[in-house]
Amino acid sequence: MSISNYLNLFEQIDKNIDNLIELHRALIKIPSVNSGYMPTGNETKVAEFISKWLSDFDLSSDILCRVPERGNLICEYPLSEGERKLLLMSHSDVVPVENEKKWHRDPFGAAVEDGKIWGRGSSDCKGLLASQMFAMMILAKNKIRLNHGFSLVCGADEEHGGRYGFGWLADNHPNVLKAKYAINEGGGSPVTIGKNLYYLLGTGEKGRLEVKINVKGESSHASVPWLGENALQNSSNALMKIFNYQPDLDCSTDIFNYLNLFGIETKPSIENLESIIQEATDKNPNLGSLLRALSRMTITPTMINGGIKSNSVPEEIQIILDVRTLPHQSDKDLDEKLSELLNDIPNISYEIDYMAKPNSSPFETELTEAIKKSQALSVSRDDIQWIPSVSNGFTDSRFTRELDVITYGFRGGHPDDNPNSENVHGTDENYGIKSLISSTKTMLGVVLELCDPN
Ligand SMILES: [Zn+2]
Repeated sequence: MSISNYLNLFEQIDKNIDNLIELHRALIKIPSVNSGYMPTGNETKVAEFISKWLSDFDLSSDILCRVPERGNLICEYPLSEGERKLLLMSHSDVVPVENEKKWHRDPFGAAVEDGKIWGRGSSDCKGLLASQMFAMMILAKNKIRLNHGFSLVCGADEEHGGRYGFGWLADNHPNVLKAKYAINEGGGSPVTIGKNLYYLLGTGEKGRLEVKINVKGESSHASVPWLGENALQNSSNALMKIFNYQPDLDCSTDIFNYLNLFGIETKPSIENLESIIQEATDKNPNLGSLLRALSRMTITPTMINGGIKSNSVPEEIQIILDVRTLPHQSDKDLDEKLSELLNDIPNISYEIDYMAKPNSSPFETELTEAIKKSQALSVSRDDIQWIPSVSNGFTDSRFTRELDVITYGFRGGHPDDNPNSENVHGTDENYGIKSLISSTKTMLGVVLELCDPN
């Protein structure tokens, strides 16, 4: 397809920015909060909204669900002859609002201020969802016929393991996820250093494990604490060990082979890694933080539970850890590390639960080329440098990669928006309007490039 056709379709996006913003806002206003504990999510409300919105453009969709209130939306683009080649992936659930009082705007009000749209889920992941819907709509409205098909799949429950979403679809309806390629959240952040613009293409993800530590003691009345054994004592010893944990460093992830593009000329090794990360942090803090995450296993205490009464010595304390592993690390590596850290603490036991295995797709494919071309056009830059990157979080991409779908995390944000100020999962989550627009153009461009209009 020629550039002029692209630009004509891109122009239609530019002329309809208000509609795009309204779509994004409408999605944020549906509070599809996923607490992780049933009943929760209510993603069917989002799925029904998407279905209705798309139907105005003759796009019909299906809602598949494990339980009625947690629907997954699938919309197959109708104007194509061949097999499905591409999935546009996103998710409809959002994480809870921890402390609403700290928010400067209603978390579900979708206020438009300072060039951004504010609200829970605005960045994760309703921005990408709105962009994919809008791109599909532009194609349908222009009756663009394709030689290869594509579909939009918006899953439930991404924020709590996907057991009602992509994980369930992969087990029960693998056909709807069948495609050569997929594009999802979890990458595509611009990094600007000086005048240079880099994009990180998400080719893989760190693994995530959850550890439940149980610390036992002996209860007694708190007025005679020496008659019991306070479980908080060993809990705090365990926490100190974990906070002081020194991870083994590693620079085998692909991104470390591309540091020269950032002007870092020293070849990374275990010995010089921390100073290289410092050098990167000085150039760009986001890059430094990413390299830090991709060079080690992280072990982070996130929750603590225990005690039954303010005047009783607690008999049992539970500590939860969040652990992120590098692509080659397994639960055995974690087990070794934990037993080393906790071996001299008595009355302690732990269980390791796999939430997501580390996973990856190859770099340099037809989809990489399609993304490079459309991103250059969508942000009007022909000097972008591309770097394959493993994401420190995880997404539904692990389910499609397992089905041999080459899946990239790429959102196509705008270089004028700083992804670190989006406060994903935090207070005042927001999404830049420029990113909403560039992402829509990128999604449209990728379909045009990959699915071959006829
Ligand atoms: Zn997400």
